[in-house]
Amino acid sequence: MNNLTELTLSEARDLLRAKKISAAELTAAFLKRIEAKACWNAFITVTGDLALAQAKESDTRLARGEIRALEGLPIAYKDLFCTKGVRTTAGSRMLESFIPPYESGVTQRLKDSGAVMLGKTNMDEFAMGSANVNSCFGSVINPWKAKDNPAQDLVPGGSSGGSSAAVVGRLCLGATGSDTGGSVRQPAAYTGVVGIKPTYGRCSRWGMVAFASSLDQAGALAKSVKDSAIMLQVMSGYDPRDSTSANVGVPDFEKSVGQSIKGLKVGLPGGDWIDQCDDSIKTMIGNAAAWLKSAGAEALDVSMPHIKHSLEAYYIIAPAEASTNLSRYDGVRFGFRAPAESIGEIYQNTRREGLGAEVRRRILIGAYVLSAGHIEAYYQRAQKVRALIKQDFSDAFSSTDIILMPTAPSGAFAIGEKQNDPVTMYLNDIFTVPANIAGLPAISIPAGVDSRGLPLGIQLIASSFNEEALFKAGCVIESSSGFVPWREEEATS
Ligand code: GLN
Repeated sequence: MNNLTELTLSEARDLLRAKKISAAELTAAFLKRIEAKACWNAFITVTGDLALAQAKESDTRLARGEIRALEGLPIAYKDLFCTKGVRTTAGSRMLESFIPPYESGVTQRLKDSGAVMLGKTNMDEFAMGSANVNSCFGSVINPWKAKDNPAQDLVPGGSSGGSSAAVVGRLCLGATGSDTGGSVRQPAAYTGVVGIKPTYGRCSRWGMVAFASSLDQAGALAKSVKDSAIMLQVMSGYDPRDSTSANVGVPDFEKSVGQSIKGLKVGLPGGDWIDQCDDSIKTMIGNAAAWLKSAGAEALDVSMPHIKHSLEAYYIIAPAEASTNLSRYDGVRFGFRAPAESIGEIYQNTRREGLGAEVRRRILIGAYVLSAGHIEAYYQRAQKVRALIKQDFSDAFSSTDIILMPTAPSGAFAIGEKQNDPVTMYLNDIFTVPANIAGLPAISIPAGVDSRGLPLGIQLIASSFNEEALFKAGCVIESSSGFVPWREEEATS
């Protein structure tokens, strides 16, 4: 069969089970394409031999009828999920040669379900960024090109930019990401794929390199809503090794796909922050509300007066937690160590040479907002704003089932743009951080294009542990939008 890499995850699953294709040929096709598309820089490490061995094992199981949920399906992992015996860098020089002696909770589940690991995808250093330009392994290139400037390289979003580029560029069937403030949903929007961030606690954080522990959550990037549901199913579940893991049942997410949304109440938060978006985004929001209504949903305005302060709260809380989490990279225990004469110099030199500019900026901000004399004015106030934002959501969910808003304020921009202005870069996260602040599940679905022909994402947010509503409504948007997925010919012509 030709074009194996064009298949969706669910199509490949069906063909494997029907024995029309083998896991070995599927895996080989992806490995070949990863090599051919090395120019996108989507992978930090490719685990070709391991992938082929796993595929072989899957073929044996498929032949015997011992079929697990993701048997023989080639997947890529963001390089902050620790993989036993396979280098895990978090995009940082600090961990450039770190080989974990253990497997993360999420990747263990994927492995146990028969998924084939193709390799580890590129990412912003320690997941800090919105454009994947902060990796010590270089920027990732978005396979999409703008109509008006096809020679310009665009960002794939961040921090899971290697995963988003790999999914849209057909380098894997799906990929894991992590989402602290939007890093699954925003790259999904910039590359025209689906990204789901589940409820905080749904997926284990055990073995995920920590950024901001009260916000970090694993998620999945995939070509379709159905594929994202299939992946999340396997990734979810209680893990006693993560103290914030939720001991709740995991519903059959795939079952929600295609279910009716009759009577579903969709909340539309208005306000200046949406008014300031590009016209193409405002049009897309109007269209999405109309698609959901014509499928039987009800749309209503919701008032969320504090949500516009999410970004300010996030950029205090996330750096505060990051400064604490990253204190472990001291050059003594593990990871990179710079040459030095004294213990003080070890700390200083190691952290200066081992960490990039954005990571060091966040550590400084975090240490400042936590310091005596400033903690009340910044960190504690941000926590109060966090409580108000959570309250806004619970008020909104007393009358609605899901909330509809854009994923990002614009489409993908050029590599290098916004790079010298951290605050402008942070503004990309304005619509994604609220769901992290409140710990809620949210999905991004491609639903339109901007004036340059680049993909735009619609975001849906649900109440805690109601991912099913996102999959149901997400399918309606997917089937109504008429969004034309990325195609190689167009991009290169
Ligand atoms: N762009 C946001 C940041 O830089 C979110 C990152 C993330 O979700 N990991 O903090």
